[in-house]
This record gives sequence, C-alpha cells and structure tokens, in this order.
Amino acid sequence: MSFLSRVLEPPTYGFVRDEKFYRPTHRELWSEFKKRMNLFDSVKNWLSVFCWTANSFLAIPLFVFLTQYFSFSLLMVGMVYSMVILGTYGTFYLHRYSTHHAFTFKNNFWRFIGRNLVIKIIPEEVYVISHHVHHKFSEQPGDPYNVHGGWLYCFLADVVHQGIRKDLSRPEYQRLTRLIEKSGVHFNQYEQYQKWGSLCHPALTAMHYSLNWAFWYGAFFLIGGHALATAIFGCSFIWAVGIRTYNYDGHGAGKDRRQVGIDFNRADLSVNQIWPGYVAGEWHNNHHLFPSGARSGFLPYQLDLAWLLIRAFNLVGGINSYRDYKDQFIREYLAPYQASLNQKTEQDGSLTELSTAQNAPKSGVAGSAIRRSTATSSDQVSTAVGL
Ligand SMILES: [Zn+2]
Ligand SMILES: [Zn+2]
Repeated sequence: MSFLSRVLEPPTYGFVRDEKFYRPTHRELWSEFKKRMNLFDSVKNWLSVFCWTANSFLAIPLFVFLTQYFSFSLLMVGMVYSMVILGTYGTFYLHRYSTHHAFTFKNNFWRFIGRNLVIKIIPEEVYVISHHVHHKFSEQPGDPYNVHGGWLYCFLADVVHQGIRKDLSRPEYQRLTRLIEKSGVHFNQYEQYQKWGSLCHPALTAMHYSLNWAFWYGAFFLIGGHALATAIFGCSFIWAVGIRTYNYDGHGAGKDRRQVGIDFNRADLSVNQIWPGYVAGEWHNNHHLFPSGARSGFLPYQLDLAWLLIRAFNLVGGINSYRDYKDQFIREYLAPYQASLNQKTEQDGSLTELSTAQNAPKSGVAGSAIRRSTATSSDQVSTAVGL
C-alpha cells in the first residue's frame, strides 16, 4: 500500500466496496459531514469546524454590504477581487507553490508576502495533502474529490475526505510533514498531532487568520471605508462557497468533455475550461499533463494570470526559480498534433484532386483508396494526441 493511499482519514462508508469505487448516497455524505463537524465527538474535528466557521463569518460583511453600502461599482470590485485575485492566488500559492513546488521563493520574507497576498480562506493543510492524493489517484478510489462520486461528494470533500488520518505512526507523520513543509505552515510535534489530529495547531491557525483579516480589512478600509472593505470581504464569501464546486467541474462533471486539439492529457477526464483558466490560470487538463509546472496556459489564447504573477515576482527578485514545460508541451503534444493535421489536409487535398480527375470505370478503386487514406490519417491523429 503506497503512503499516499493512507494519509487521508477514510470516510465511514469507505472509498472502496467490493473492490470497486463506492459512491455514497447523499444521506451517507451528510451523515459523514455531521460526524466530522462535531467537536463534542472529537476535538480532532477542529480544522473542519474552523474552516466552515471562518468561511461563514464572511457572510456577515456580505450582508452588511448588501444592506448598507451596496452599489454596482463596488459589487464589480468585490467580484473581480473574489474571482480573479482570490482565484489566481489559490493557483499561485496553494496549488503551484505549496503542493507542486513549481517555483521557489528567494527567502522566507518573500514566502510570507506570497502567502499573505490576499484574504486567507483555505488553510494550507486542507488543500495540500489531499491534492497530492488527488494527483496520485485521480478519479480512482481514494481520490478525495473523485468526480465519479458526484457533485456533493466533491462539494463536501474538504470535510468528509480531505482531513489527514488520525492514527499515523510517528515516522508516517514525519513523512507527511515533508509534503507541506514548503508552505510556511508551522506544523505540530507528533504529540500535538495526537491531541489535535492535524498538522497545523488551532491557536496558530486562528492567530494567522485574525492577523491576516485585520490587515486586509484595515487596508481596504483606509482605501475605501467600510463600503469597500465589506464589498471585498463579502464577495470573498461567494468565492469560498463557489470554489468547492471546482473539482467536480474541472474533471468534466464525470463526463468525457475533452476536446481534441485542446485537452491533450487523455489519462483522466480533466478539461481546460475557459472560466477557471482565464480568472485563475487553472487550465486543468494541461495541469494534469505537467503538474509541477509554474505555467498551465500553453495555447496562445490560454491566459494564465498565476504564471504572470510568478513572472512578476521573479522580475522583482522574490522568486528564484520556476519550472516551465511549455516547450516540452509544444514538442511532445502540440507539434505532432499540428503535423498530423497538416498531413491530413494534404492527403485530403490530393485525394480530392484524384477523385475529380477520375473517370467512372476507375471510381471504385479510388473510393477504396480514399477510405484507406482517411483511416490511416485519423489513426495518425489519434496516435499524435495520445488517444
Ligand atoms: Zn484534477
Ligand atoms: Zn495539482
């Protein structure tokens, strides 16, 4: 059994039944959710409770904004912050840096800046560990947000599937810390883990959130008063809820929505979607192709704001190095695909000329040639894109 297959606390209904992925009912999911949100059951549930409570607090500024300060212009500002800035930050810090180590900060000062670039919404531990497991077992049993589990399975995943296992041995726990050590989280000693069931400590996590929120609320207040601050904090609530749907949509909602010439990774159902791509650089099919890359937008229209942010940090000296797989993508995927398309176009053109020049008695022979050539051509396309 691989290490990553046992780092997450399995749900009561299990990831597997009869040696196949088990898709729980909604009742089972909600029952698991209730169990893991119950501090009286175990104090080790604290991180789930903390996360949902902190997210819920963001509904207060949303209510204040809507009832006291609402204007369309501030709503636009809040939504841009929420969708673009929070989204890009998630890709930049939680995804590409903390999980995939796609780049390195020059020092801890720059990492601190990178880590606190926006209002804190998701604790690193919740994202990083489970995301390693997602890549290892994409769409297989054990994937914490397995798209085949359905929308609710993914929406509630941070509580019901993403928590770390509570009975790790000391060596296993130490190994686990190495998965998150770059993220800047001050993690627990093993004895503290045994008490709290988590890598991060509740007091330090609460302090981090408090200072981060106080700083950002103060900054927005100085710029635009309570109106701006509540607009931005309030709209962040919308992102905190909406982001939970991403993992389901990012894998095609369980359907094969991959498009030839766009989604070159054929190993899973992940897709390059326009909206998450444009607002956050999450070209998810590309990302599954090169998970440790600092860039996921490869095709000319695939804007990647997280990549631009990494480049900006690099230009001012905050980021030392990064991994970029664009050349490899072009060499191994795009160029062969385009070559196969060109070849097909040429073949189609010569076949058209051939069939135009044919006289009636020879048409049967040419017809079979056309069919043979077309089949060969499409086989080449399939091979080129890895179908
Ligand atoms: Zn994925
Ligand atoms: Zn990833």
